[in-house]
Amino acid sequence: MKVDLTVKNCRIWHKKRLKKASLVIDKGKIVSITKSRLPPSKKKIDYKGGIVLPGLIDVHVHFREPGLSSKEDWSTGSKAAAKGGITYVMDMPNTIPPTVTLRSLFDKKELAKNSVVNFGLYAGVSQKNLNDLKELSKQAVAFKLYMCGSTEALIIDDISLQLKAFTNVAKTKKVLCVHAENEKMNKYSYKSYKKETDPMAYAHSRPPESEVLAINDAIELAKQTNVKLHICHVSTKDGLSLIKRAKKKVDVTCETCPHYLFMTEEYLREKRTLVKMNPPLRTEKDQKALWKGIKNGTIDIVASDHAPHTLQEKYQNIWFAPAGVPGVETSLQLMLNAVNKRMIKLEKVNELMHDNPVKRFGLGNYGNIEVGNDANLTIIDLKKEWEISREDLVTKCGWSPYEGWAGKGMAVMTIVNGNIIQN
Ligand SMILES: [Zn+2]
Repeated sequence: MKVDLTVKNCRIWHKKRLKKASLVIDKGKIVSITKSRLPPSKKKIDYKGGIVLPGLIDVHVHFREPGLSSKEDWSTGSKAAAKGGITYVMDMPNTIPPTVTLRSLFDKKELAKNSVVNFGLYAGVSQKNLNDLKELSKQAVAFKLYMCGSTEALIIDDISLQLKAFTNVAKTKKVLCVHAENEKMNKYSYKSYKKETDPMAYAHSRPPESEVLAINDAIELAKQTNVKLHICHVSTKDGLSLIKRAKKKVDVTCETCPHYLFMTEEYLREKRTLVKMNPPLRTEKDQKALWKGIKNGTIDIVASDHAPHTLQEKYQNIWFAPAGVPGVETSLQLMLNAVNKRMIKLEKVNELMHDNPVKRFGLGNYGNIEVGNDANLTIIDLKKEWEISREDLVTKCGWSPYEGWAGKGMAVMTIVNGNIIQN
């Protein structure tokens, strides 16, 4: 009898360190981690110099289906994820219709059967479903609350409603992820910039103070309600300082995204609307603070906030072009290039993209390289060189803010539930 798959000549991430061993995978599970002779197998991976990591996780993607499948769908989005070494995605609720009811969660789950990677679905917290959260929590991986909006139906910007939302999510014991910008401040600030056409005006119209105010509110509400709070896409130095201080007494975690780690607002001059996103790109000072936050553990997770739009949509003026950039396919290679540049350790990348997501969102044993566990694995090659070009992209939107960037270190194979996902 042949086993399904063997992996040899790689180093594997086992018990918090890299060791030389081979893996035997059968019926979707890791059946042995061994240094001895391998049994005959139907498929063989023999990759000298490869490193096998636990299956990486992206806790923040927008796969756009239902309703917006001209930008992305579950098939293309998940293939892009797998190409980028991601084996599990958590999909945001701002689809059409938004994922705010049991029905919409079930419908999205049905569509997500086209996914080649594992997934969890967020339930959105809206003004209308505040009394249904308990029921929704059984189908959702976590909750998402927009303190400020890109998606009108999902905004909760009133503090008393926010308090109710935090209180009711706390009862479900699930994590509450928030988009932290202050709606009123953004609206007010926009008035001073709306006549400008320079893309930089967009960044300035959503000032850092807006994020800081919202993070402050969210932390205060979490303190009162004991909710498990997760701040999405932190972009500012001052916002991060608040989180660092709050961590001593509030159950709060946060994520940042590769675009804030590798780009600053200066990129708006060159790439214009292509790098319009919310919160906007910030200054070098903020960027430095984010890297420091990674080192000192204030930042728990790196997520892509993969938010694809078509080029046609993006090539509008700075106020009309939709906010968001694709990223699920490029996050890991950017992080691994940073490993090669000694900006971060591989161990830390694994923590940010696997260990901490698993811990925070209660994903149990997911991805861990242990006998008996489902085989969800990301195989990387730290020496493999890359250059990001439009032709190679898998995302349906067909472009990347990093086109032309080159570097070293990338995923070479992604194994989901024992199956090799071909890139
Ligand atoms: Zn998002």
